[in-house]
Parts: sequence; structure tokens; C-alpha cells
Amino acid sequence: MSQGSTAQVRLDAHVRALRRCTTCPQMHRPAVSGGAVMSKILLVGQAPGDKEPTLGRPFAWTAGRTLFRWFEESCGMSEASFRASIYMAAVCRCFPGKKATGGDRVPSREEIANCAAWLDAECNLLEPELIIPVGKLAIEQFLPCQSLADVIGRQQRIRRAAREVDLIPLPHPSGASTWPRMEPGKTLLGRALQRIAAHPAMAAIKKKSVAPRRPRRSLTVT
Ligand code: SF4
Repeated sequence: MSQGSTAQVRLDAHVRALRRCTTCPQMHRPAVSGGAVMSKILLVGQAPGDKEPTLGRPFAWTAGRTLFRWFEESCGMSEASFRASIYMAAVCRCFPGKKATGGDRVPSREEIANCAAWLDAECNLLEPELIIPVGKLAIEQFLPCQSLADVIGRQQRIRRAAREVDLIPLPHPSGASTWPRMEPGKTLLGRALQRIAAHPAMAAIKKKSVAPRRPRRSLTVT
């Protein structure tokens, strides 16, 4: 068996085990996974909402539409090709449930620590060259983040699971957040997406894709 197919078998087993995970009693299962995509780019979301467990994939609802539009406009990558070529992880893979006051519950420290073991394993299996954390909770798993304006639009070299990797954070695409639609967020988001589009790991993915799509001329952040 080649090295590549061995890695794929290990990643398949990892995703099967992840989907069966029952470690956190407060979480609503099943865990949501984007599938065993061998990739040098790892996107790390926060936690699925209530729709994703039923639909069976991360970023399956309104925030996902915005996220995939960002990538279409900046990298010329459709949602289908994004899902087929980038590994989609999250801080927590299960829906945390709703707060009594409305909105999704923020995962506890213990739940985040539990799920970090899956992320560390993915870093070891995939040896990513680029990690894209999406939203403050995801960014904070890699860097201190007092303010989004301090980290969005920048590329940093970080250590995770005993290896060095580039990190380019994005804001959360949820419609509830106005940050990406107002200055300085709009400009910083555009800068972050340009950095992702120019990263060698993204260039390698686009080179491999059968029919690369040309990016549109301008990025519309609404
Ligand atoms: S949040 Fe993560 S660690 Fe907790 S049950 Fe879900 S998959 Fe397992």
C-alpha cells in the first residue's frame, strides 16, 4: 500500500471514530464532520448549529453560504470543490444546544479540551501547511485574540501538535455579526482572503483541480 493510501485509510478510520464520539454528555450528537478529505489546508469552525447534524456537513446553513461565497470570490473555488479539497474541522464537532436566553450555547472549557484531541490528531494525520480558523472562538485555540482587528488580515506562523504551520484567521460569517461588513473588518477580511488565495497550499490545491474557476474581479462583502 502506498504512503498516500495508508494516510487515507488512517484518516477514514479517524473520521469514523469521530462521528461515533460520545465524550461530552451535554453535547447533541452526532458529531458533524466534513469527511476524510486529504488536504494540506485545515479549516477550523467553532461548533455546528442545529441544522448541521441533520444535514450531515459543517457550514450547511446561512453562515456557510456566506463563507463559500467569500472563497468563490477570492479563490475562484466553488462550495463543491472547497468541500472536496479542504479538510473541515471545528473547535467542537457537536451542536452544543441552545441557551435559555436564545442563541447557541458556547461550549465549555472541558468540551473544547475534549474536542481538541481530535484536532491534534488531524494535525498529525494531515500535516497541514495552512490552518484557517473561522471566528473568535476558533482563533483563540491558536492565538490570543483580544480583538478581531488585531489578527484578521495577518498570516502568522504557529505551533500546533508539535509542528509549525501558517495560520490565516477569518471572522465568523454569521449574519448576526456585522464585523465583516463594516470597516475596518471589510478591508481586513479582504486582505485575509487575498493571503489565503496566494498561499502555496491553496495554489497547489487549485493546480490539482480538474477545471479551476477564475476568481471574480472584486470581492463583495455584505
Ligand atoms: S464535542 Fe467533540 S469531544 Fe465532545 S462529544 Fe462531540 S466530538 Fe466528542
